[in-house]
Amino acid sequence: MLEIFIINALSDNYIYLLRNEHKNITSVIDPGEAEPVIKFLNNKRWNLDEVINTHHHHDHVGGNRELLHIYKSKLIAPSYENERISNIDILVSDNETVNITGIPTKVFHTPGHTLGHVCFYMPEEKSLFSGDTLFYLGCGRVFEGTMEQMWLSLLKLRSLPEDTSVYCGHEYTLSNMKFANYIDTNNAVLNKVSLEIKKKKEKGLPTVPFNLGVEKKINPFLRADDNNFIKTVGLSSNNATESFCEIRLKKDNF
Ligand code: ZN
Ligand code: FE
Repeated sequence: MLEIFIINALSDNYIYLLRNEHKNITSVIDPGEAEPVIKFLNNKRWNLDEVINTHHHHDHVGGNRELLHIYKSKLIAPSYENERISNIDILVSDNETVNITGIPTKVFHTPGHTLGHVCFYMPEEKSLFSGDTLFYLGCGRVFEGTMEQMWLSLLKLRSLPEDTSVYCGHEYTLSNMKFANYIDTNNAVLNKVSLEIKKKKEKGLPTVPFNLGVEKKINPFLRADDNNFIKTVGLSSNNATESFCEIRLKKDNF
């Protein structure tokens, strides 16, 4: 049985600390900085066995060096990023299954935000670590890949089971929610979820994880091929990639 702890880092990053008590394995996903992770581990008196990265951005790998040095952890990261992430021990690529915290984990290559971005899915835990590809009510900005790559990456994630809990790389939920409400004005599920999100934010709680099944109904970026949605929000194209691109650009300028 896996325990997942959420650690706040930098201004709005999430670091996920995974603990398999039974096997005595502890891992961390996307340590943008080392200090909050060290503090957490000291408190629990745990070692850190594995460091995992979804992509090469500094706010996801910034703590690697220090953590690897202190704990002698193994670094698991996308093979595509071998040049840009130092000291990778285990290179992972699309469709491969690796053990993370002793749990079988499927790797999905999801280019778009960066070319080498990967997401980690644990079927047994019904959990997806989506990095900067899928956010609650949003998706990552398309920096290195094409809009088409990003759309196809999101489709891969969308095809996972409805009961998947998604752990994303940033707390961008409130601003994503504002945009979603702005373009999708008549969505009962979105209205209901928006209230839940506001309540969590008022209490200072993280909005992650979120449910993938619900997300399919309310995240504008997962609905670029939904003709009803496209019509309702007044987009011009019948082509999913083009619609996705329009939505992404609207959000970039929101
Ligand atoms: Zn990033
Ligand atoms: Fe990021």
